[in-house]
Amino acid sequence: MCADVIARLKSQADAPDRVWLAGGSTYAGLLAETGRLAHALVALGLRKGDRLLLQVEKCEAVLALYLACLRAGVVFLPVNPGYTVGETAHFLTDAAPALVVTDPGRSAALAASGRRVVALAKLMEMAAREDAAFRDAAHEPDDLAAILYTSGTTGRAKGVMLTRRNLASNAAALADLWRFTATDVLLHALPVFHTHGLFVATNCALFSGASMIFQRAFQPAAVLAALPQATVMMGVPTFYTRLLADPGLTREVCAGMRLFISGSAPLSPATHAEWLARTGHAILERYGMTETNMITSNPCEGARRPGTVGMPLPGVEVRIAGPRGVLPQGEAGAIEVRGPNVFRGYWKLPEKTAEEFRDGWFVTGDLGAFDAEGYLSILGRARDLVISGGLNVYPAEIEAALDDLPGVAASAVIGVPHPDFGEAVVACLVAAPGARLEEAAVRGALRDRLAAFKIPKRVLVLPDLPRNAMGKVQKAALRQAHDGLFAGG
Ligand code: AMP
Repeated sequence: MCADVIARLKSQADAPDRVWLAGGSTYAGLLAETGRLAHALVALGLRKGDRLLLQVEKCEAVLALYLACLRAGVVFLPVNPGYTVGETAHFLTDAAPALVVTDPGRSAALAASGRRVVALAKLMEMAAREDAAFRDAAHEPDDLAAILYTSGTTGRAKGVMLTRRNLASNAAALADLWRFTATDVLLHALPVFHTHGLFVATNCALFSGASMIFQRAFQPAAVLAALPQATVMMGVPTFYTRLLADPGLTREVCAGMRLFISGSAPLSPATHAEWLARTGHAILERYGMTETNMITSNPCEGARRPGTVGMPLPGVEVRIAGPRGVLPQGEAGAIEVRGPNVFRGYWKLPEKTAEEFRDGWFVTGDLGAFDAEGYLSILGRARDLVISGGLNVYPAEIEAALDDLPGVAASAVIGVPHPDFGEAVVACLVAAPGARLEEAAVRGALRDRLAAFKIPKRVLVLPDLPRNAMGKVQKAALRQAHDGLFAGG
């Protein structure tokens, strides 16, 4: 078993000058801060297993509070600050947190829930008066560390229960695989309420003693200004497309970087190629989800294959299954995962949890296939699979073909009810600045690349695609907006 997150924090703090946040605290300072905060949580009456719901704008204190919760045995429950009070109401009733920590603007509205609410600044003030030395609550690897509500695009959000082992095993695997060391400087511009920015980024730094440049939000100009001081960046694909749109992105700016990592949504091979041509760096794409932490990654050394998410992490098993069992290599099917990275279940939903497991394997809901060299390709969410005239169409394949066409800035392929085909393939495109996309020309250009049944029956050019906070296209919203496209004809 690898070391717990807090054990790693303590060993980093033994090096007195080791920097945690550039221009901010050291690891020793961070450890002291988490001790004070843990005392404050205990003073507020929180006990092992209690939930702390945090809804604040991104700031350094979020990370200290996450670690303080681990030390006090309190379950950390961060919520997207973009959610309204109404949307947050579900988390309050479902998770019944013993404490809600917020920004001042939100405090009053959340207090109406009847839960105990404290402003983050007030909590920090209380902590400042406490002792830095804190005796950690006794804990086991399978204790609950955090609950993250999934961004699930349909139905009610579910609370994903993550254990200390889930977090620690994944961080140890990633820090090793991506060759993190104490000399690394990680540029952090991701949100911290989601697994990517909170666990993948922060825990990789923490496990290796690396420091972070911690930016409050993703702003291309700020990222470009910080790149010369950084060695690694983690981002979602929209970071990369937005940076590519900025003339300030040059080979020189990236000269000191050793690694660019992408995940949380598909990175198009076209973006991968453009980034390589512009900066000389091949983006390393990896794949994971809230329930499983990270599952696969392209290699640090060795070929990074665009359009694939690489191989299973050490200790993580991945299989591709069809309705009648495991499929041979090369065939497309459901991606299923097993390992120390897989969550304990959905909060208060044992039946829903049981439905999502098959013989001890977690059914991710994603479709994929392995190639002969063991690289996994993601073919889309199972619920986004289009079945047109009885034939399976994998949206990712059509999207890759569309993204290669000149003038296409972004694409999303959906299935829309059709009187003859059951579902028809529909492409939603966003044009690059200054480009004009014609439906007939787009369909014509695909004819050389794709079988007739895969060619979109309609091509819609939209001003933008609906995306969530991680830049992921919300296909359910697109389907809903266009579900009458073939009605009555
Ligand atoms: P979340 O739980 O919000 O992190 O979303 C997880 C989902 O994001 C996965 O189930 C995939 O559908 C998608 N995803 C994450 N990483 C990738 C990737 N590299 N390529 C394609 N889809 C991805």
